[in-house]
Amino acid sequence: MESRIQRVRAAFASGRSRPVRFRLQQLEALRRMVQEREKDILEAIAGDLCKSELNAYSQEVITVLGELDLVLENLPEWVAAKPAKKNLLTMLDEAYVQPEPLGVVLIIGAWNYPFVLTIQPLIGAIAAGNAVIIKPSELSEKTAKILAELLPRYLDQDLYVVINGGVEETTELLKQRFDHILYTGNTAVGKIVMEAAAKHLTPVTLELGGKSPCYVDKDCDLDIACRRITWGKYMNCGQTCIAPDYVLCEPSLQNQIVQKIKETVKEFYGENIKESPDYERIINLRHFKRILSLLEGQKIAFGGETDEATRYIAPTILSDVDPESRVMQEEIFGPILPIVPVKNADEAIKFINSREKLAFYIFSHNDKLVRQMINGTSSGGVTANDVIMHFTLSSLPFGGVGSSGMGAYHGKYSFDTFSHQRPCLLKSLKREGANKLRYPPNSQSKVDWAKFFILKRFNKGKLSLLVLTFLGILAAVLVKVGYY
Ligand code: NAD
Repeated sequence: MESRIQRVRAAFASGRSRPVRFRLQQLEALRRMVQEREKDILEAIAGDLCKSELNAYSQEVITVLGELDLVLENLPEWVAAKPAKKNLLTMLDEAYVQPEPLGVVLIIGAWNYPFVLTIQPLIGAIAAGNAVIIKPSELSEKTAKILAELLPRYLDQDLYVVINGGVEETTELLKQRFDHILYTGNTAVGKIVMEAAAKHLTPVTLELGGKSPCYVDKDCDLDIACRRITWGKYMNCGQTCIAPDYVLCEPSLQNQIVQKIKETVKEFYGENIKESPDYERIINLRHFKRILSLLEGQKIAFGGETDEATRYIAPTILSDVDPESRVMQEEIFGPILPIVPVKNADEAIKFINSREKLAFYIFSHNDKLVRQMINGTSSGGVTANDVIMHFTLSSLPFGGVGSSGMGAYHGKYSFDTFSHQRPCLLKSLKREGANKLRYPPNSQSKVDWAKFFILKRFNKGKLSLLVLTFLGILAAVLVKVGYY
């Protein structure tokens, strides 16, 4: 493992991942890969998750293509040095911020959206000029295999390397030194990743799990709210990190919500859900059993049917759920929707704030309430009057807060995550007079001049700029007279 990482590091040290033209070529090659090998990619995702190829396309491939288009269009602007504001002391110098690559980045992907959760961070890491080790999840075996087969055919083989394997290989990989690690997966392993990274002082971006509360206000179009909740909750059989985890609502709404979700499930998946090409299965038996155990002792208002042989769990709703029960203590990550009745929005805010959360959803016509709830809570991200959709907007950073993770990516935020913002100040060897202010021996007059140079603030505007220039010249002359 060590020698493999060394080879990638040597490729990075060659400097060829840095020129913007090279980055654009690699990203174009990645786009070609997705377009030319779309069928193989869709087959692999579909095979891993019992998913239709249409859904594999619209839930994963389309996001990757959109991200590639965005980055290809904007990268030349992102890599450019950004001029920085100057003070009187540096007025005649050049100051700018230059984004530069971090080095060798490790991306550890998760199985639930095995293509997009691995390739989207890869796009950002390549865009920022890094070398990358890609570790797909071993649970989505077919996607892991196709990535290991295709990426080296399209991308620079020394700079971008796929390493497949399970816990043992990942553990070994984590012993190596990286310049950044982006990990997507559960919170417990997130701690393992961060601990391993700490040994090398490697910065991490952790995209973890968590519960995502969904408040439904009585002043709301319940038909539309329930259709959107049904879509987000049961997509990928509930195995979506930002799926609405549970619903909070006033007791009078509970039965209506159950009824409307029930109707929508029929509209989406038909009479026989098992036959629907749009309804997936649980990834493996371990997760199937874990989810079933969350149903123990609960009041099932709808669904509840299961089939161990095919790892099928029907879209299920639990009503009057006790906030202390197990299903409310851990992330569900399956097609079970608990409803917890609360007295009002204030109680919902208290409830949400007393727990960890990844995303937050609120449905209401009342714009004031929407803003009040957003301002009164915290979460990794928010969508009002819908679910999940904040993920799809590349201009928004995507990430968690607290135990649901740290850091963010998507679009320009990925580029920033994988870049070091290097501050550069280019001075000349002239104008030593002003510089003498900081050399010993110190004196009250030097301190007074330093205060003038460093602390003086002027409002913007042409007149102020003129005054500033004049004062700068005057100060330079005075300093020269006083200190030569
Ligand atoms: P997983 O089992 O695929 O694990 C993720 C990665 O961690 C894999 O590559 C695996 O090899 C590695 N890994 C597993 N155990 C390890 C260990 N002991 N030591 C080192 N590496 C190890 O995925 P998962 O964790 O089951 O994924 C589901 C979780 O991920 C859910 O909690 C979900 O909410 C979260 N998730 C979060 C996001 C997000 O963007 N925030 C996205 C998807 C999934």
